[in-house]
Amino acid sequence: MIGAGLSGLAAAHALKSEGLDFVCLEQASDVGGLWRQPQAGERGPGYLSLHLNTNKRLTGYADFPMPASYPVYPRHSDVAVYLRSFAEWAGVLDHIELGTTVESVRRTSDGSWTVVSRDSRGERTARDFTQVIVASGHNTDPVLPAPAPGSDRFRGTILHALDYRDGSDYAGRDVVVVGLGASAVDIAADLSRHAARTVLSVRRGLHILPKQVFGMPLDDVAEAPWWTRMSLEEQRRFIEQALLVARGRLSDYGLPEPDHRIFASAVTISDEILTRIRHGGVTPKPAIDFLDEDRVVFTDGTSVRADVIVHCTGYRMAYPFLPPGCPIGPQGSVELYKRVVAPDHPGLHFIGLVRPHGSVTRLVEAQSRWVARVAAGKAALPEPEVMRKEIAAYLAGIADQYGPTQGASIQVDVAPYLEELRQE
Ligand SMILES: Cc1cc2nc3c(=O)[nH]c(=O)nc-3n(C[C@H](O)[C@H](O)[C@H](O)COP(=O)(O)OP(=O)(O)OC[C@H]3O[C@@H](n4cnc5c(N)ncnc54)[C@H](O)[C@@H]3O)c2cc1C
Repeated sequence: MIGAGLSGLAAAHALKSEGLDFVCLEQASDVGGLWRQPQAGERGPGYLSLHLNTNKRLTGYADFPMPASYPVYPRHSDVAVYLRSFAEWAGVLDHIELGTTVESVRRTSDGSWTVVSRDSRGERTARDFTQVIVASGHNTDPVLPAPAPGSDRFRGTILHALDYRDGSDYAGRDVVVVGLGASAVDIAADLSRHAARTVLSVRRGLHILPKQVFGMPLDDVAEAPWWTRMSLEEQRRFIEQALLVARGRLSDYGLPEPDHRIFASAVTISDEILTRIRHGGVTPKPAIDFLDEDRVVFTDGTSVRADVIVHCTGYRMAYPFLPPGCPIGPQGSVELYKRVVAPDHPGLHFIGLVRPHGSVTRLVEAQSRWVARVAAGKAALPEPEVMRKEIAAYLAGIADQYGPTQGASIQVDVAPYLEELRQE
């Protein structure tokens, strides 16, 4: 297995529960994946102000709940401590080789898999396995937009959210945050308490949802029977009305209105950003047009002084150690049967390569139980042709709802997806 984040630990627990022998190779110095505090000089998407956006009940593992002392939305360092204590409780730490980076995974002529890894001393090892589980996450490679005209003349610092740690590092500076995803709104709200000025540059409107509606965490709403009984259209109308009552229109705050219905694209969860805008801590602006020495000029012709630009423009999936074309097919979509199994690479499975509206934990637990049963010979996979048909039908359905992007190709609806995995 590759990776000991939230997904890899769920898989390790499932393999151990099936009594299977396994080793988990993890490049970092500890378990926990993106929730672990990066060490000095290390990069990572977990900035200091990061808290869970999903509630602790559904983000903790089903048979090892997060501590009662934790708040509903714990801080990322608390999540890291919890993930380590889960690994201890599940008895999987002995199976995990820390500081070990997987460099290549290739199928041999006898059908097994050769995994080449490098340890912290730089020593390479090649080992053969009958099955490989990839749980290496999908928030690793930062996506940066093409440099804006004038970037070479800009005297300030340009960075990606992956290198952003804490608002206090920017005390007294003028900062422009680019994007409107979860990291962008968190980082802008964090900076607004430290920086001299925080500007949020937004190209495209996204739906912004609070963490709770009617005092209920959104993910509790998502599994409530009164919600799941509604059609997608009814759910859309319901949430659109609730948002209008709670906060009015996004254009009232100077943000662009979304050009799509809710649930036709990833939503942004934030309790803070709209309040920080209304309190004058964050100023919304449109997309960047060009840069000029110490100024950022926006597409509406306005400009601000800036010392720093933080691009919160997301991550791309990267699997440099896998055979080319897997799991991302020629069209740029992830092509996995039930989002887990590579049909043309027998024995290669993926855990956590899904993006739900809500927590991933129940999904990776169900994926892990299924893969462990397949590995134990207790569940059989269909013929590759059948798997390819399922993938094509799934991707066509997803493209209808979300459009044909790479990120959309891992989007899943929680309740129906869990039901599909239960049937496997
Ligand atoms: C900023 C941010 C906030 C989020 N908030 C939430 C939230 O509130 N709730 C929620 O449910 N989800 C959230 N997510 C989604 C998040 O992806 C999941 O919560 C979960 O942490 C993913 O776990 P993972 O194990 O799949 O990936 P990761 O946590 O990324 O772990 C992957 C592990 O694989 C290791 N690895 C990678 N490549 C190699 C290699 N070649 N060799 C060896 N080891 C390797 C990495 O070091 C890492 O430890 C958030 C994501 C981001 C980026």
